[in-house]
This record gives sequence, structure tokens and C-alpha cells, in this order.
Amino acid sequence: MNRIKILPPEIYTRIAAGEIIERPSNVVKELLENSIDAKATKITIEVISAGKKLIRITDNGCGMSKEDLTLCVKPHATSKIENFEDIYNLSTLGFRGEALASIVNVSKTKIISKIKEEKIGYELVIHGGEIISFEECAANEGTIVEVRDLFYNVPARLKSLKSTYTEKIHIIKTVEEYAVAYNDIEFKLFSDNELILSFNPSISVVKRINDVFKKEIVQNLIYFEHKDEEIKIYGFISPLEHTQINKSLQMFYVNKRPVSSKILTQSLYDAYKDTLPTGRHPVGIIFIEIHPNKIDVNIHPKKRIIKFFDEEAIYNKIKTLLSEKIKYNLDSKKPISIDSYSKVNYVSEKNLNTSQKPLSIYTSYLPTDYSQNLIYENYKKIGIHRYIYLGQLNRTYLLFETNNGLTILDQHAASERILFERFTNENLKSSLQTQRLLFPVNIELKLSDFETIKPYIEELNKLGFEAIISGKSSLGFYSIPSVFEIDDIKDFISKFIENLISDIRSETNDITIKDKIIRSACRAAIKANQLLSLSQVENLLKDLSDCEQPFFCPHGRPTIINIEISEIEKFFLRKK
Ligand code: ADP
Ligand code: MG
Repeated sequence: MNRIKILPPEIYTRIAAGEIIERPSNVVKELLENSIDAKATKITIEVISAGKKLIRITDNGCGMSKEDLTLCVKPHATSKIENFEDIYNLSTLGFRGEALASIVNVSKTKIISKIKEEKIGYELVIHGGEIISFEECAANEGTIVEVRDLFYNVPARLKSLKSTYTEKIHIIKTVEEYAVAYNDIEFKLFSDNELILSFNPSISVVKRINDVFKKEIVQNLIYFEHKDEEIKIYGFISPLEHTQINKSLQMFYVNKRPVSSKILTQSLYDAYKDTLPTGRHPVGIIFIEIHPNKIDVNIHPKKRIIKFFDEEAIYNKIKTLLSEKIKYNLDSKKPISIDSYSKVNYVSEKNLNTSQKPLSIYTSYLPTDYSQNLIYENYKKIGIHRYIYLGQLNRTYLLFETNNGLTILDQHAASERILFERFTNENLKSSLQTQRLLFPVNIELKLSDFETIKPYIEELNKLGFEAIISGKSSLGFYSIPSVFEIDDIKDFISKFIENLISDIRSETNDITIKDKIIRSACRAAIKANQLLSLSQVENLLKDLSDCEQPFFCPHGRPTIINIEISEIEKFFLRKK
């Protein structure tokens, strides 16, 4: 029953080489893949200090015979291919025969394994590539791989590791990623002896996705599926109203292998083309099943990138499938209720030639004699004095004719700045005004997201929120700062959390966590694409010119720009 063979040089030299173990989560990934390849139905992962001290993976898979156990840690040792061409008929995640060999070289590893046919198991101990012991031992069927003191003999690697906090999030994300694809396997993750993830085997992918993401959004996802003799494509995307601030809910799998793929990303975004609000990202969990001879898995040592031989066909199939789904989903909804101003414009927009992209110009209602009515106070500080308000473009930009030409104000950036300064000033006061919520809002998060935010809850509560941990990966909010006047509190809090997670992950160290919290909250509090009345425009100008730094939003984008009349004249070739 010996299965592992050492690949000869004529084969292994053709296999993508390179470092695969750079951080603890890479070890977790490789060991998970091995357990999955061994047909395990239960996989338990234990880590101490985010895997820096210990990573132990226990599975109930097929195990290894005595011979196989001695071979598995050797370079190019694999039971998964025998000839190079086998990679075009691959049904396993692994095939390079390099993971265990790399791991045992940079850690103190113990592997215990037993196969069904044997009564007794075997234990191999190997430190920095040196075999310490190999003996019989009592064991359950399956394999335990225990990796201690990772990089103890590679100081440079050890030094380059990030904080326990960051490495732990990488590990959680890795487990989440495989858990989504292997819904029929039970996964448990213990961190520092605490059970932090537990997924029961489930018959449906949807159920597993729900267990992993926990987000309300899962209920709103659109399922898609396409099958022909070449390929099966299925998965979930978000309707337009549930797009995200970042790409954390995009996951692509080819034959259940998690991959990063430009082609898949592109097809997802192109399916939303022209409809995705700027700065928003779709949810996309896309599974592809395709014959292994239509792809090349051998182009990346970590096997994270694969190549489709016919990229164009894949791109077209996915894009068409998804855009039809999005369109169908849009059509099946009632038109959103729109106020009287926009109704007029809505009708005129419909009159446009439909093959043309609508211009989406929504001007506010203007009295006929507007030039007399609309010269207001001077806002010299922001360069707007003696102005005429011309209207609103794309429900985002306010247009003014000024002495200098055309001034354009980004209403979202401006509101964000105003709120930011208010909130910051509020925080300088000795007692912060908070509003107690009538009904506490509970936000459930994906564990990796929850872990990202957990260390900052105290800081959050210093800033006028009252949030407590209300479950393994959920937060209960009881109060929010008073500066925010919000109609839909739950929506505000979820957006705030989403923004904050993105901001923390962006690892911009020059911004304090306090500022990240403040600006994430302000961003969540602004109303998007709102039609503004004249008095609202006036208030916005006034509030902006009262700001200490009116020209940039807290994220550094300009709030206001001016196009001089001479610039405009250049466009029309009136000036040289
Ligand atoms: P690869 O997965 O590319 O074959 P690895 O170095 O990851 O290379 O593993 C080497 C071999 O060890 C595998 O081909 C497999 O036969 C065996 N092996 C590793 N982990 C397990 C496991 N958890 N259960 C059973 N066999 C395993
Ligand atoms: Mg492997």
C-alpha cells in the first residue's frame, strides 16, 4: 500500500518552483490541502500565538503507511502525480510534493499517522530537516501534523513576521476560504486553546457560506448557474443595492481551488459595468468546474494563480451569465420611489436613445428668474463669492458659476469633511453627547472581520459608541454619538464597521485608530446620491466654509475644484 513516490528531476524541474512557506497561514493552507486531498471529513486546526509557536492539524483522512510517512517529508515526494502530464488530469489540490519538505526544514515537526489496514500508527519527529525519531505509536486513523517554532532556524523570516494579531487574521481567512468550498467537511479552529471557528458539515454551499460570512447580505445574494459540456459555473453575486466597500467578499474557486484571477475579477466587474456606484465592489463567490486539461495549475509555486487555456471563452461565459442575472434582478424590482423633482428628469432620461449611456444629469428645480434669486452670501474662504447655483450633476456634484468660472463641489466629500470636524470637535469636549438606541443593533461578522475590529472596541466606546461583544463574532451596539442624525441606524452601523475594517486593513500607519474610527463613521453617515434642496445647498456651503480645513475630505480627496473660464475657453478653441 505504498503510494508516495519521489519525482525524478525530469519531472520536478518542470514544476513551478519557489518559496511557499513565508508565514504561518501558508503552513495552515498546505496542511489543510493535504487533509482535504486525504479525503478527510473532519479537520481540526489548532494554533498557539497565531501559529508562531504551534500549528497542529488533525484529520480523519486516509493516513500514511509506515513507508509513506518516511517518504512524505522528502523533497519532490508525492502520491498525487507520477508523470508530468498527470497535472492535466488532477483531482487533488497538491501535486508538487514540496510542502511537507519545506515545512520540516524550517520548524520542529511531528507527524503521527495511521492507515485503516494497520492496528498501530507511526510517529516521525523531525527538527530543521533532521530526523530526531521514528517510532510506533497508538493513533487514530488519519494524520496529525504538528508544527512548532516555525522559522526557529531562519531568523530573517521570523523577523519579517507581522504581529500576532495580523498573522491570526491571515490564518482565519485561510480557514474561511477552504471552508466555503468544502461545505461537506467539518472544520474547527482553535486559537490559543479557544474554539473560534466551528463549521458543521453541511449539505448546501449556501448554508456554509452563511455560516462563514454571517452577514445579512447572504440572504440577499443572487444565485447563478450555467452548465455545458465544457464547464460548470455557479455561485453568488450581490444585487446592486448590496455592493460592498471592499473586495473582501470576492472569492474565486477553480475545481474548488481558491485562486486569484484577473480574468474572473474582470468578468465580475464587467458584468456590473455602468451600474456599479463609484468606489463600490460587488460580492462575487464564483465556483468553476472545468476539466483539468483546460487549465494550467503549474504556473505559481503557491498554486494561487492558474491559467485557463481559453480565457476569452471563460470571460465571456461568466460575464454574460452574470450581467443577465443582474439585469433580471433589476427588472424584477419595482422602480424605486423618487421624489417629484427627479421624476421629471427620470422621464426625460427615459426618452434618451436607450442604446446610449444615460447622461444621468439631475438638475435641481430652478426658478425661472434664478439669477436674481440665487446670489447668496459670500463664502470667500472656499473661493465661492458672488455665485450662481447652477444645479446638481449626477446627484453628487454641485455646480456654481463664480467670478472665476465654474466651481464644482463634491457634496459627499464636503459632507464628510463637515461631519468629521464636528465629530472631532465633539470629542474635545469633556462630556461626549451620545444617543441611546431604542433597540440595540446587533452586527454579526465574519470571524476574520470580527478579529480585525476586536482590539479597537474600547477605543470605539471612548468616542461615543457603546458596543459590546455579543457573541463569538458579533457586536451589540447600544448607543452612537449624537452628532450623527441617522434614519437607518442599522445600515449606518454596518457601513461604519465595513469602512473601519477596510481602513484598519489598509495599514496606513500615519493615521491614528481614533481618526480611522471618526472618518469611517462620518463616511457611513453621509447620505449617498441625495437630491439637495436649495436650502440644503446653502447650508452645505455655510458649514463647509466654517470648517478648519474645507478643501479636503478626511480621506484626502478634494471637496471643491474650480475650472477657470479661460480653461473652458481653451476647450472651445477660443484661446490659444
Ligand atoms: P503534495 O501534496 O504536493 O503531494 P506534500 O509535501 O504536501 O506534497 O505532501 C506529500 C505527500 O504526503 C502527499 O502526496 C501525501 O501522499 C502525503 N500526505 C501529506 N499529508 C497527508 C495527510 N494529511 N494525510 C495523508 N497523506 C498525506
Ligand atoms: Mg500538499
